Amino acid sequence: MGAYDVCVIGSGLVGASTANALVREGAGRVLLLDRGNAGGGDSALTFGMVRRHYTNPVLIQLSMAGTEILAHWDEEVGVGSSAYVPTGYLLPVPERLVDACRTNVERQQGFGLETQLLTPSEIHEVEPLLSLEGVAAAAYEPHGGVCDSRLMIDSWLLDALGRGLELRQHAPVAAITFDGDRATGVQLADGERIEAGQVVVATGGWSPEVLAGIWEVPFNLVRIQVAVLRLPPGQVAPAAVTSDAVSNVVVRSAAGRDIWVVAYQADTPTISVRDDCQLPLLDGYESAIRGPLEERFPTLAGAPLVGGWGGAYDATPDWHPLVGQVPGTENLWICAGWSGHGLKSTPAIGRVMASLVTGQTPTIDVSDLAPDRFARGFENPCAYGPGARA
Ligand SMILES: Cc1cc2nc3c(=O)[nH]c(=O)nc-3n(C[C@H](O)[C@H](O)[C@H](O)COP(=O)(O)OP(=O)(O)OC[C@H]3O[C@@H](n4cnc5c(N)ncnc54)[C@H](O)[C@@H]3O)c2cc1C
Repeated sequence: MGAYDVCVIGSGLVGASTANALVREGAGRVLLLDRGNAGGGDSALTFGMVRRHYTNPVLIQLSMAGTEILAHWDEEVGVGSSAYVPTGYLLPVPERLVDACRTNVERQQGFGLETQLLTPSEIHEVEPLLSLEGVAAAAYEPHGGVCDSRLMIDSWLLDALGRGLELRQHAPVAAITFDGDRATGVQLADGERIEAGQVVVATGGWSPEVLAGIWEVPFNLVRIQVAVLRLPPGQVAPAAVTSDAVSNVVVRSAAGRDIWVVAYQADTPTISVRDDCQLPLLDGYESAIRGPLEERFPTLAGAPLVGGWGGAYDATPDWHPLVGQVPGTENLWICAGWSGHGLKSTPAIGRVMASLVTGQTPTIDVSDLAPDRFARGFENPCAYGPGARA
């Protein structure tokens, strides 16, 4: 079979985007491996929210560049669709968070993002269904919205396969092989050895197992659940995607008459191994969403629960991802730990990873995401404290 130039492990949003960018960069023979079906990990479970409201320049830039690609998919990818819909994105905040929110909005405006801080009466013009009890202001992005991760992955893979990508599904990596500090390739669970000049770990919440004995990946797995409610005929659905920092409920419209609802819970159970995360909703989740929903969207709160699912956030201590060389190794790269908000940045991070792997300078400086930052005592600040709002 011969050696590959690059082997990417994991074909979720990160791996598929990276593999696509690598073949487009002319990085040589590129192999993409997944232990299951392509896109079957946490990328299949996202809420689909697109926003650029971040604290730090690196995530503002990655999410802005990623959203540009989502919005111009035909020109940028040319296959399939991102299903991006700019519904608008609202982040209502209580009085105690107004200053932090204003500072974030001004920083994002400095990068050219169309965003503003709305007063309560202005919020009502954007989202009339919202109860404003306890809401002091809201960050608003008219071009925030939703997209479809599965269509994105399919599109990247179809395009890349046409350009020579080799994809192997149901090919679990059991070990990364080394010569000293230098990665030489991977060994599959059935014993097959594959040589590669560069190896990229894009295995999301499974990364601790993939890197066992090589590097202790600094993240915890945090369970997160999405409930599906079905509105009665005639009920007006939410217009914008809303992530409420007062009640901690997150709501979007979905297909047909469905809405998707997430409640950030303080007592969310942690999981030690990604495979232990069960897909169905846990008992008690319905009651966890009803209160916050009643508080923020009273007209939606009685809609019946018709389904839902759970996944895991691979949450680092500062809720920013790990992007760069795996400490203590050569030519072994990681892009994981997206802490529950990677979706809209993945079109951009794939290109960044391709630049890093091929020895070029990425167009966005990702040095603040270096995997060794915690060991160096550096953490990215989060305006609202460590959490998925980052
Ligand atoms: C419920 C939920 C809602 C979310 N909502 C949003 C949102 O609204 N907006 C947003 O921006 N982000 C959101 N996210 C986060 C976003 O989905 C993730 O950041 C993103 O999907 C991570 O992609 P990934 O490629 O790193 O991981 P994954 O999609 O998990 O991909 C990892 C892949 O690695 C493969 N793999 C694992 N081990 C091996 C092995 N040994 N050998 C080979 N392959 C292996 C897996 O099979 C999998 O396909 C959400 C996440 C969850 C769980």
